[in-house]
Amino acid sequence: MIIDMHTHVGDLRAPGTMHREPVTFENLIARLDDEGIDRAVLLPWPTSPEGVQFPGLFQTQPDILTQLREGARYPDRIILFGNADPRWAGNTPRADFSSLFERFVQMGCVGIGELSAYLPYDDPRVVNLFQQCGEWDFPVTVHAAGPGEGQYGLFDEPGSPHLLSLLEQAPGTILIEHGPGFWAQISADVTEADMRGYPGGPVRTEGMVQRLLRDFPNVYADISAHSGYNALTRDPEYGIRFLNEFADKLLFGTDVCFGDDEGRMPHLEYLNERLASGDISQEVYDKITHRNALKVLKRWKANSS
Ligand SMILES: [Zn+2]
Repeated sequence: MIIDMHTHVGDLRAPGTMHREPVTFENLIARLDDEGIDRAVLLPWPTSPEGVQFPGLFQTQPDILTQLREGARYPDRIILFGNADPRWAGNTPRADFSSLFERFVQMGCVGIGELSAYLPYDDPRVVNLFQQCGEWDFPVTVHAAGPGEGQYGLFDEPGSPHLLSLLEQAPGTILIEHGPGFWAQISADVTEADMRGYPGGPVRTEGMVQRLLRDFPNVYADISAHSGYNALTRDPEYGIRFLNEFADKLLFGTDVCFGDDEGRMPHLEYLNERLASGDISQEVYDKITHRNALKVLKRWKANSS
């Protein structure tokens, strides 16, 4: 089985990408079939003003609820996550998300994400949302950003002090990290600007990525998007060592944002090549492509067994 842990549906185009095709449920399922992927986790989008691009307002499924309702029509292929903004429900650190989460559970949602509010990881409103996600057994997928204008997602600085503070305050919540603010930190020589982009070059000294995955049983990472792929391939030999060492904490995902062939991502092909060339074992491949996902998706496993 192969599970794509990071997919979206909708019109994610911006002024510079208007020549691309939006993702529809039809072309999403067709891609899964074509690539041999069994299931996809749908992360409904957007929930935060930072994630809004104007074309998306005019799409057929412009909000997270219509995306979830439509996604529920494909129970054999789509795994639903709910989503939220920590500033909802009054914009206070005491906001109660339980009535929203109850509705999400009724709709079959098994996680929350991806969070895209531009807030520090340990903003009290973020901590509050995380703690409640843990109580509800919802893993949380986060878009990790670096600090700066035009960013979306939870942000931090090199060394992740804010994330460490969140983990201390919400130890019972499964966190799935994703995005440049996380993956740039695969190398210790990371700058704030790197955390907004895709730094290259060899990984000589381990960074926060390895420390977080090693020290915190509740921290996982999805390898999706350019940020994850860049981290694995910027130093190809190190990338293979990383896959093997952290095989229990990595989740395959794509973050395909467009419905055309050009929008497809290289992650599965990369993993298939590593398997074929003996760089990783079948066991490592299985963990990354679905076995870790089954550990994280507790509610989905419970629903489907
Ligand atoms: Zn995404």
